[in-house]
Amino acid sequence: MQNEKKGNVKVSDLLTSQSKVNLKDLSYSQLEELVLSLGEKKFRAKQIFEWLHKGVESFDEMTNISLSFRQKLNQKTYISVAEIEEKYESKIDETKKYLLRLQDGNMVESVVMYYKHGITICISCQVGCRMGCKFCASTIGGLVRNLTAGEILDQVIFVQKDIGERISNIVMMGIGEPMDNFDNVITFLNNVNHPFGLNIGYRHISVSTCGVVPNISRLMDVDIPITLSVSLHSPNNEARSKIMPVNNKYPVDELIDICREYIKKTGRRISFEYALIEGVSDLDSLAKELSVLLKGMLCHVNLIPVNSVKERDFKKPSKERIERFRRILEKNGINATVRRELGSDINASCGQLRRNKINENKRGDLNDNSSII
Ligand code: SAH
Repeated sequence: MQNEKKGNVKVSDLLTSQSKVNLKDLSYSQLEELVLSLGEKKFRAKQIFEWLHKGVESFDEMTNISLSFRQKLNQKTYISVAEIEEKYESKIDETKKYLLRLQDGNMVESVVMYYKHGITICISCQVGCRMGCKFCASTIGGLVRNLTAGEILDQVIFVQKDIGERISNIVMMGIGEPMDNFDNVITFLNNVNHPFGLNIGYRHISVSTCGVVPNISRLMDVDIPITLSVSLHSPNNEARSKIMPVNNKYPVDELIDICREYIKKTGRRISFEYALIEGVSDLDSLAKELSVLLKGMLCHVNLIPVNSVKERDFKKPSKERIERFRRILEKNGINATVRRELGSDINASCGQLRRNKINENKRGDLNDNSSII
């Protein structure tokens, strides 16, 4: 398949390894290789791939695969399952929030949002996060581990199975930093886009990053036409470093340079996320500075009124202030919209549900290696 990246796993190593491999961690071509090395015909890969994406939980459900081949698969591989630990449905809109339990007991969050243009899922790519953004609940206990490509995909597969309707759009804006789990995210994107799988178009997928510059550059080279969202949140180093430690490593000018390069190379518009925090990022002077910074760029600014997180002391600005900020951008020729708040009654902001669960359980299953700096 075009643009498909092989990932780190070598199929020959898998077959000699002691531990079983999650079939959904493999790219399509790796699955074909696996099928061939188990002495089966290549077309079996298509059948297995299709079953996996339908959300089968055991090999027995693969009814067009012979029992002997299923047994062979079972010796070397397994099918991961994401179990629904908790599910909340908004009474205000139809938003649904899932706390999903992974095979090792760790939890991640996914949110389903219903729009006129289709159903969107917001998914996680790591258990926790080490980026340390001050307003974000996901990063409070640091990074526990990366999700594998299959675990990222399982959120789409099992939530779609639960709602019984086709998910048409994906945003990688849940827990974790996609550009800190690069290879697994790329394998996931290739698989979820595959015509034999869920076949979700790249143009229906957004990947959000806090600005890990070298991997934005790698993403540009992989050249898959997803929408890139960049969490900017402040137009200058002083203000940005206060709320985003990543800025100490990759400052605003480097970030904007790579964004300009990305736009030039891909011809695609970048979406800048800008969280409005009362008295911190909502000042008129910052709106003016932001307009200068982004002038002439093929971009859109998504203003997000900050969601207050119990452990953090940040407040949402008033409606008037938010609108004032937006108008300053507009007056200066910057395209900006305010993000509609969905699921505000069900803790739908990044990482809050998992935090609540951890606080509730006091499981102490988190490492504190929070910031990347
Ligand atoms: N790590 C990625 C994606 C995860 S968060 C990133 O940083 O872009 C998705 C978006 O939600 C980011 O723009 C993030 O900064 C923002 N966000 C996190 N916590 C928030 C909060 N409490 N209120 C509003 N936006 C928040």
